[in-house]
Amino acid sequence: MKIAIPKERRALEYRVAASPEVVKKLKGLGFDVIVEKDAGLASSITDKEFVEAGATIAPTAKDALAQADIVWKVRAPMTAKEGTDEVALLKEGTLLMASLGAMTNPELLEALAKRKVDAFAMELMPRISRAQSMDVLSSQSNLAGYRAVIDGAAVFNRAFPMMMTAAGTVPPARILVFGAGVAGLQAIATAKRLGGVVMATDVRPATKEQVESLGGKFITVDDEAMKNAETSGGYAKEMGEEFRKKQAAAVLKELVRTDIAITTALIPGRPAPVLITQEMVEQMKPGSVIVDLAVEAGGNCPLSKPDQIVEHKGVKIVGYTNMAARVAADASPLFAKNLFNFVAPHVDKETKALKLNFEDETVAQTCVTKGGKVVLKTAAAPASAPEKKGA
Ligand code: NAD
Repeated sequence: MKIAIPKERRALEYRVAASPEVVKKLKGLGFDVIVEKDAGLASSITDKEFVEAGATIAPTAKDALAQADIVWKVRAPMTAKEGTDEVALLKEGTLLMASLGAMTNPELLEALAKRKVDAFAMELMPRISRAQSMDVLSSQSNLAGYRAVIDGAAVFNRAFPMMMTAAGTVPPARILVFGAGVAGLQAIATAKRLGGVVMATDVRPATKEQVESLGGKFITVDDEAMKNAETSGGYAKEMGEEFRKKQAAAVLKELVRTDIAITTALIPGRPAPVLITQEMVEQMKPGSVIVDLAVEAGGNCPLSKPDQIVEHKGVKIVGYTNMAARVAADASPLFAKNLFNFVAPHVDKETKALKLNFEDETVAQTCVTKGGKVVLKTAAAPASAPEKKGA
């Protein structure tokens, strides 16, 4: 079977859905791997490395895709409406595996079904322990959380660690993390390593212990309301207005002395909850920074703007949308490994053929188009998780 990895063509996308290590593993399973010329360059992977791992290089996306039975991409292929029609380059019957943003992209699904492409949306991977190694949301959010702190630190005009010098003492930076999921926990760990004093808040009670184990202080909003804040799929539920008010009051005391706020809170299928209002921003110290990782889902701060750094009354609000791509050289190999872990269990060791088992929920729940039809299972999917660019 032939598997092709084209270059990503969307703006600010530096990742690629393959790594030399994964190419080797695919070869081991009996696949032929075709990588588009320079597909890995923005992730610091050269064509030479891909060739040494066993891939062949195709000069264009068209050449790569025309031969492929399976196509791996990081992001959804572009449709005619978006300028470059990448969907048209996929041959009929191709199996496409990528982070598709399927829940919020019905037009793409229609185009893929029309093209008779069987597509698998990796962001819909069920949150079961067996699927952790296939979970692109986790592997990419983890790096996004790390990078959020680094980008916050880069625009912050003070230091993170406490420094006691002969010329005086530099106080440690205070970091407040909203949402202690995968990205938030990595942000906490990173901010601690840089020497900051870290606080965090979340609606899911399980996160308290996780925050504390990383050396952060947890801000509890309402123990009773938090008891029902988690879905069976491990995601947060949308909280009511009363909780939101309590939360704003509880965090404001800390926010007014915070140097860097990192917001990561998402509700699958819903706009991101507003956690730092304009009024709250105006009470923050001049020179403080907000990094809004939820900006694509509307933002946890209404002032954040996609891919911009906005300054409001002395507070800088960073709204980079694709944080994982800002650490592309690490993000790409993890993404590729997630795809490999998804596919490998379905390859027959003797015949080397790929036969996806639709009884397996990792296949059934991620499959969004099949045999010319859109088969997205809205109920089974994690309540319509928005595509995270960092995923
Ligand atoms: P996410 O990206 O959907 O949300 C980020 C965080 O924001 C979550 O912790 C959420 O509780 C929090 N949040 C939502 N609304 C909030 C509000 N109003 N105020 C404060 N915080 C709010 O979630 P995620 O990071 O992708 O993952 C959530 C959980 O799922 C984690 O515990 C993770 O360990 C688990 N998970 C399990 C698997 C698996 O088992 N395969 C895979 C990935 C994640």
